[in-house]
Amino acid sequence: MSIHRHPSLYFEDGSVVLLLPSTDESLVAYRVHRSLLSAHSEVFADLFTVPSPAVPEKYDGVPLVKLSDNAQDMEHFLNCIYVPRILMTEAITVDSVFVNGAMRLSNKYSVPFIRDFIIEKLEERWPRTYGTWVSRDLEHISLADKYKSLDNATHHGKIDGQYYCDVVGDPASAIRFGVDHNVPSLLPSAFYELSSVDPSLDLDECHTALENGDESREKAILESTKASARWSIIQPKEFRLLIGGMDKLKSHSLTTLGFWFTIPSESCERQGICEEQVSVLRNRRWGRLEYDSILRYFHLAMAIAAADQKICLKCKGVLLKKGRDEALKIWNSLPKDFSIRCLE
Ligand SMILES: [Zn+2]
Repeated sequence: MSIHRHPSLYFEDGSVVLLLPSTDESLVAYRVHRSLLSAHSEVFADLFTVPSPAVPEKYDGVPLVKLSDNAQDMEHFLNCIYVPRILMTEAITVDSVFVNGAMRLSNKYSVPFIRDFIIEKLEERWPRTYGTWVSRDLEHISLADKYKSLDNATHHGKIDGQYYCDVVGDPASAIRFGVDHNVPSLLPSAFYELSSVDPSLDLDECHTALENGDESREKAILESTKASARWSIIQPKEFRLLIGGMDKLKSHSLTTLGFWFTIPSESCERQGICEEQVSVLRNRRWGRLEYDSILRYFHLAMAIAAADQKICLKCKGVLLKKGRDEALKIWNSLPKDFSIRCLE
């Protein structure tokens, strides 16, 4: 097999050569610094101090260490160590080849600064808290509006070169990432969001239809402002948990109605008016609820109730508190509802 020296990660003064198989069946050589790798990783430190064979293998005058990891993963991993600002400049998303490669090896070689940085970034999109999730959801709603109002004859469904589905991110990829790299904190919001994706909308099919100038293109552009997912990367076990969680979420829909029936409150200042106005809101169809997302229903309903002028302040206070408590209850029960522990 031919050996290629990596163009940027082959340092003349490097003290060890790492040799790894590449996907194109060649071998890639990285000449790096033992001291630097050892400082970041105990696993590497141990690897370099293991007693070497009687005649240690050498390459280009320095010890050679053969590793079985993927050479491309190693490139991303070493770049994080040698050029840490790459973590600031690369897009940190669950389906990025760079992020997945760096994460795989930072787990294997135990380099927490890479793993921690990536997780912190990803949790901005797949959050731990309900408040952050609502902010993201509101951003997605207004983003979808922007995409819907595009003149597609000129924009072809893209803003700054990106489709809506690519900007919001794929919940199936978030599940894949969370499970494969052992980052369970991403899973509740990822499972929740996947549960409200229309199963007929596949991210890759959407892409193909968008890129092909065929008749289905117009329909695809319209559909592309809805959430879609890469369904094919979800494992059977994850599907079972998804369906189980969806059942639990359905049973929460009674709770959703209960939130409205706390009005009129005991301290209501406009008996009759509040009750009537709340029943109007309760019976209204929420135009933005294109998918069956109970948490979206909650935060939209509460925003509309908060802006309502007819409901008295006392009732509004009760309604908003009750609504938030109920939404939080649903949010906090997501890990249990989707049995996330079965995947850890
Ligand atoms: Zn009232």
